[in-house]
Amino acid sequence: QPAKDFILSIDALTVSFDGFKAVNDLSLYVDENEIRVIIGPNGAGKTTVLDLICGRTKATSGSIRFDGRELTRMREHEIVHAGVGRKFQNPSIYEDLTVFENLELSFPRGRSVFGALTFRRDKEVIERVEEVAELIFLKDHLNTDAAILSHGQKQWLEIGMLLIQKPRLLMLDEPVAGMSVAERIKTAELLNTITKNQSVIVIEHDMKFVEDIAHRVTVLHQGKVLSEGSMERVKSDPRVVEVYLGH
Ligand code: ADP
Repeated sequence: QPAKDFILSIDALTVSFDGFKAVNDLSLYVDENEIRVIIGPNGAGKTTVLDLICGRTKATSGSIRFDGRELTRMREHEIVHAGVGRKFQNPSIYEDLTVFENLELSFPRGRSVFGALTFRRDKEVIERVEEVAELIFLKDHLNTDAAILSHGQKQWLEIGMLLIQKPRLLMLDEPVAGMSVAERIKTAELLNTITKNQSVIVIEHDMKFVEDIAHRVTVLHQGKVLSEGSMERVKSDPRVVEVYLGH
């Protein structure tokens, strides 16, 4: 691979669980401002790759370089601090707090729940919360309790809680699962907007959505890259059709 400035460079990454290689000698390079979508059959290793990047799972061997730093030697919270945000499939918002409060809590200074709720709402926090609320289509819902948001709005709120911290890389696991068509379109719009400032890695099964957002697609199979490139290219790769798209 040429010495280009990738925001994320994964080289020869392997993780074994009792001898089974869930990720097997994987290499993956993500550009700044890129939306990369990872697809592949169940058990291909997609979730494990994100777990390895965010430090939830430790690699058996190989390297993950992010923004010039080696992540495989860092702890989960250090990786967050280095600028990697990860959204899991189930929302982890605070249902009994408002949209504003949820976003405010995620502001880097707001560490503990009580600390965050009692600190003075200074201009910087309010501005950042409003800026993010606008991005996630919730500007008019700042005082709405998170509990009564739609499923899609809850997903956006969680993305917003990550965006508050200005990650350089955002990782999303099936962000449009369960969303309406209208919400899916807006989510694509949101991802396109944020990649002016950051890179995004998305695991996704919804091929229509993949076509809407992917700059490049990586197809995983048995812990390895089976195919990679534009959606067009990947879609017409016979190996991809055989293991994934053909059924
Ligand atoms: P995908 O997200 O593509 O569906 P996963 O990354 O979840 O695939 O899983 C890849 C493989 O690794 C699966 O066979 C899964 O059972 C296995 N696996 C994942 N995590 C663990 C673990 N902590 N211990 C044992 N096996 C695991």
